Parts: sequence; structure tokens; C-alpha cells
Amino acid sequence: MKEEINKKGVSILSLDVQKLIDMLNAALSEEWLAYYQYWIGAQLVEGPMRAEVEAELLQHATEELGHADLVAKRIIELNGTPVLNPLEWSKLARCKYEAPEDPYVETILAQNIRGERCAIQRYQEIAAYTDKADYVTHKLAVQILGDEVEHEKDLDDFVVDISLLKKALK
Ligand code: FE
Ligand code: FE
Ligand code: MG
Repeated sequence: MKEEINKKGVSILSLDVQKLIDMLNAALSEEWLAYYQYWIGAQLVEGPMRAEVEAELLQHATEELGHADLVAKRIIELNGTPVLNPLEWSKLARCKYEAPEDPYVETILAQNIRGERCAIQRYQEIAAYTDKADYVTHKLAVQILGDEVEHEKDLDDFVVDISLLKKALK
């Protein structure tokens, strides 16, 4: 068992800390799955604008890993334990991993867009739950939410450009 001290930083929070830790562990699991979804998609992707899409997917993978780092550190600050076993990820995650069995760029983008929409919902909920009750987690959730909204836009832009390209070639 790890040593626990009564932290002022935890006792000031006016919310159910265990419920918040559970939400954060779900988010942490989703970040790791999103990391792999992006990373493996980047390895496999083929079709129009492959090089540009691959670079964006790799960048997003790195950013999801950064989110995992921030969320895990906050769970520890809250005296919680970040999910220890990768086998738990798919059980805790609400945003499901979708194996990229079809490497076509539009299919890969659609899978990642579903992931981003789910992540946006997740951080919207954490931001709402912590509003006024836990400023530190609230700020973190709002910051990550902003990144996820940007990710969704980046992917949507590729979908639009690929469809314009296909139209131009008709
Ligand atoms: Fe993320
Ligand atoms: Fe994202
Ligand atoms: Mg981007």
C-alpha cells in the first residue's frame, strides 16, 4: 500500500473525488486507445493525401499521449491510482477502439473522427462536473477539450479536401 497524507489540495474539493477519479481513469484509458488508433492508422493509411494525413495522425498520436500524461498526473494528485493494466483500457473506455482493418484514408479518418467526438463528450462532462468544485481538474479538462476540438477540425478538413479532390477528378 502506498503512503497517504491528508492533502489540503484534495480536502478543498466540493465533489465526489472517487467519482472524479473514475471519470479520469476512463479518460486515461481512452487516451491510450486513441494513441494506438492514431499510431497504427498512420502506419497503414493509403489513398489520396496519404503523406499529409499520415503526418497529422502521428502528431495527434503524440498529443493523445500528452493528454494521458496530464490525466495520470492529476489522478495521482487526487490520491487515486491510474489504471495499471492495459487489459482494463477497453473495459473502462466509453470511446471504443476500432481496428483499422480497411486502410483507406476515408475509413481511417472516419474512425478517428468518431474517437474525437467521443473524447469531446468526455472532457465536456469532466469540465462540467468539476466546474467551481475543482479548479485544477476543470482547467485541465478545458485545455484538453480545446485540443480534442482542434483534432476533430483537422480531421474534418481532410475529409472535405479529399472529397473536393475526388470531385475535381471526375
Ligand atoms: Fe486526447
Ligand atoms: Fe484527440
Ligand atoms: Mg492537428
